[in-house]
Amino acid sequence: MRAAITRYEAAHQAMGTEFTLVAYGDDPQYLTAVGNEVFDEIDRLEGQMSIYKPKSELSVINRTAASRSVCAEPKLFELLVNAVDHSQSTGGAFDVTAGPLMKAWGFFRGKGRVPSNSEIAQVLRRVGSRHVHLNRAERTIRFDMEGLELDLGAIGKGYAVDRAVDIVRRYGVTRALVSSGTSSLYALGAPPGARGWSISLRNPYSSEKAANIVYLRNCSLSTSGNYEKFFKLGTNTYAHVIDPSTGKPVENMLAAIVLAPSACDADALSTAFYVMGVERTREYLATHRDLMALFYLPSSTGRKFRRAILRSDGSSRIGAFFPRTPERKRKSTRKGTSTGASARSSARYATARWDDRSL
Ligand code: ADP
Ligand code: MG
Repeated sequence: MRAAITRYEAAHQAMGTEFTLVAYGDDPQYLTAVGNEVFDEIDRLEGQMSIYKPKSELSVINRTAASRSVCAEPKLFELLVNAVDHSQSTGGAFDVTAGPLMKAWGFFRGKGRVPSNSEIAQVLRRVGSRHVHLNRAERTIRFDMEGLELDLGAIGKGYAVDRAVDIVRRYGVTRALVSSGTSSLYALGAPPGARGWSISLRNPYSSEKAANIVYLRNCSLSTSGNYEKFFKLGTNTYAHVIDPSTGKPVENMLAAIVLAPSACDADALSTAFYVMGVERTREYLATHRDLMALFYLPSSTGRKFRRAILRSDGSSRIGAFFPRTPERKRKSTRKGTSTGASARSSARYATARWDDRSL
């Protein structure tokens, strides 16, 4: 007789967010052991990559690499190579050295502040991935100027999701959803009987409402949104993604969402596309494969927003399915064939279950 299928779910605080794991299998104890291993690994990665921990490997690199070459642990080195590649391929829209700008705007431990133009100009001298020299043969990092800092804030959570999925796969689990809070997730396989993991993308103006539902299978999704981390001063709102070409927080963007085979890439690119906007992202997608980008953009009428969806070559192979009529789909998911539920209540439903991770 086949054992009944078990659903395991757990959450864990790390990297300033809540990681979650949902997995299906036939042995609850086994799934719990897998979950513990996943969260231990995420803690280990936080200990290595955090710029909030002075003893982390990344903090040591930041303090040392301007005066001498520093050797990095192989996986961290690989991640830095990937981050610098993304910095270069996005024309610096994603910039792994944007840390000093975050500090100038008071996002690092601070409450938020607006630096003067001359301060921004000073800080910008210490930003740019061209100042980071990675020696692949020796696995060393060297900065060619003082004051440079690596900040993995826009790629590290996606990277941690990928490492978690590696563990889950290694243990033979075939149906799992790993998420790093509202940042990035990877959907492995699908829940039993489902076409994919149902993901609710939040409305940029209200966390209670869904803007889109997407079903994912063997694919990752990352979001950069202006509602994630921000501060207000007077009538202005400043969000935590900085355009390294101006040194200022990006304006006129509500959210950029990326679907990609890896969560690490999706994370870096959601930040990059948030900075680049629709037209520059279109150009990027013309020369890169296996990506889908979804934008929520401000509209001239109040709290409405516009959507734009862009696809690269090969995007049809991404395991993502957007129901043609999301509202109706959400209603029918709720009660079989119910048509009575309002879009609002069905959206709430969509954010209420673990399977339906709300981003
Ligand atoms: P989340 O943290 O919700 O995943 P993002 O992936 O967009 O959001 O990352 C935002 C973080 O990335 C910021 O908090 C900051 O640490 C860093 N950051 C901000 N602007 C940039 C940029 N242009 N390039 C690289 N990193 C950035
Ligand atoms: Mg990101």
